[in-house]
Amino acid sequence: MKIVVLPCSFDNYGYLIICEETGEAAVVDPGEYYPISSEIERTGVTLKSIFCTHHHADHIGGLEDLLGEFPGLSVYGYESDKRRIPGMNHSLTDGSKIRVGNIEGQVLHTPGHTTGSICYLLEDVLFTGDTLFGAGCGRLFEGSPNQMYDALNIKIKSLPPRTKVCFGHEYTIQNLKFAGFIEPENEAVSKRLELATVERGEGKLTTPSTLKIECESNPFLRCEEKGVVGSVAEKGLGEALDPTSVFTVLRRLKDSF
Ligand SMILES: [Zn+2]
Repeated sequence: MKIVVLPCSFDNYGYLIICEETGEAAVVDPGEYYPISSEIERTGVTLKSIFCTHHHADHIGGLEDLLGEFPGLSVYGYESDKRRIPGMNHSLTDGSKIRVGNIEGQVLHTPGHTTGSICYLLEDVLFTGDTLFGAGCGRLFEGSPNQMYDALNIKIKSLPPRTKVCFGHEYTIQNLKFAGFIEPENEAVSKRLELATVERGEGKLTTPSTLKIECESNPFLRCEEKGVVGSVAEKGLGEALDPTSVFTVLRRLKDSF
């Protein structure tokens, strides 16, 4: 399996998943037409499928033009997004199987950012859209904090730490600044911020990360850690909070950070 990152629009990431045995490919989140179609032409792969993580315009902006260029594409999304994703012809639910050539994968329903948000797991790579970011998570537009807590801390965190995380936006530096505000003593955060700053200065991308890196430096996956719980309490927002309440407060603090 080969993954190509496709920077789209201002700070969006789409991804091209290629089965090297068959030459078949799928695009995750076609935010913009040109970067995707030119990469498909450059690599000479056969585009078969579009995997949508959710319906937001910045993630599906290139979809209709791609459908025009490649008629007969399979367009996947969560079942409830059928009316919100143009051309969607395959409805997915939690645990649905997907494939790209000989590569098999499955779907995790992870509501929170939107009610129909899903992540795609192929081998050891997880495509998270706007659910999990480098050192952060998506805003809660439609789902509840409890749903997002469960998506991140129960579903995603149960995957192996080596799992690569391919996220939907380059927000890593801003997210790490917030992580440092919450956990000033966490060296994993300060070191990651240093590294990300160098990488971005050199024009490199911070995607993919790994679940291990996220568990060490992403406060939204650390709601049970003393430093995070203490920081939330110290900011005058309650004490002896359970992890879901810690998550709720963290998300609210980040919204106005
Ligand atoms: Zn979104």
